[in-house]
Amino acid sequence: MRTKVVAGNWKMNNDKKESKQLIKDLKKSIKKEKLKNTRVIVAPTFVNLSSSVKAAKKSKIEVVAQNMHQAKNGAYTGEISANMLKAIGIETVILGHSERRTYFNETDETLAAKVDAILENKLETIFCFGELLEDRKSDNHFAVVESQLKNALFHLEADAWKSIILAYEPVWAIGTGETASPEQAQEMHAFIRNIIEKQYNKEVADGVSILYGGSVKPANAEEIFSKPDVDGGLIGGAALKVEDFTAIIKAI
Ligand code: PGA
Repeated sequence: MRTKVVAGNWKMNNDKKESKQLIKDLKKSIKKEKLKNTRVIVAPTFVNLSSSVKAAKKSKIEVVAQNMHQAKNGAYTGEISANMLKAIGIETVILGHSERRTYFNETDETLAAKVDAILENKLETIFCFGELLEDRKSDNHFAVVESQLKNALFHLEADAWKSIILAYEPVWAIGTGETASPEQAQEMHAFIRNIIEKQYNKEVADGVSILYGGSVKPANAEEIFSKPDVDGGLIGGAALKVEDFTAIIKAI
C-alpha cells in the first residue's frame, strides 16, 4: 500500500512565533487521529526550520524545507545547501515548485542537479511539476508533464525513487481557487504512473506517492483524495489555518 501524504507548503508566511504556534495547534488537533500509513508534513521558511523542528518533536508532524541549492557550499550568496539542512534535522525538501520555476528561473536542468544533491545526501524530495493554463488549453498538458519528469527525474536509477514523492500541481490551480476536478487529477496521476512504469517498471510506478496540489481545501479534499492514483495533497493557502489543514488531513 502506498504511503499517503498531506503536506502544507507555508511559502513565505508565518514568522517564528506564528510557525511554532501553528505546529502546536496542529499537534493538538491531530493528536487523536490514527493516521495509519499517512504522513503529515509542514514546510516553514528556512529561518524558522530549526524552531519548527523543535516544536514538532514527539508528534506526527514532519518539518521539511521549501527549497535547497544543489552545491555543497561556496560562493552562492543567499543560498542553503543539503548538508546545512541535514545538520538541523531536515530530511525532506520540496523542489521545483511552480513559484520557484516562475520567479526564480528554476529549469528542469537545475532541478535535475538539485535532485542529484538530494540523493547524494540521502535526503528525500517532494518534487513539484505541472502545466500552465495555456498548455492545458492547447491540449499539451500531458506532453509538458512528461517532459518535466523526463528532464528532471528519468536519469535516476530505479532505486532512487524510494526517495521521491511527486506533487502534480497544475499551475492554473495554484492559489487561484480553481481546482482541477477529481477526474482531471486522476487522469493526470494515472498518466504519470503509466510513464513511470514504461520508463522503469510496475514496482517503481506503484510505489511512488503522487500528491495533487492546487487549491485543495476542506470542501474538495475528500473527493480528490478518493481517486485511486491520488495519494494525498500539497496544500498552500489552506495549510495556514489549523482548522482547514486538520480537515484536509482527516479527509485522507
Ligand atoms: P494552494 O497552493 O493550495 O494555495 O493553491 C498549493 C501549492 O502551491 O503547493
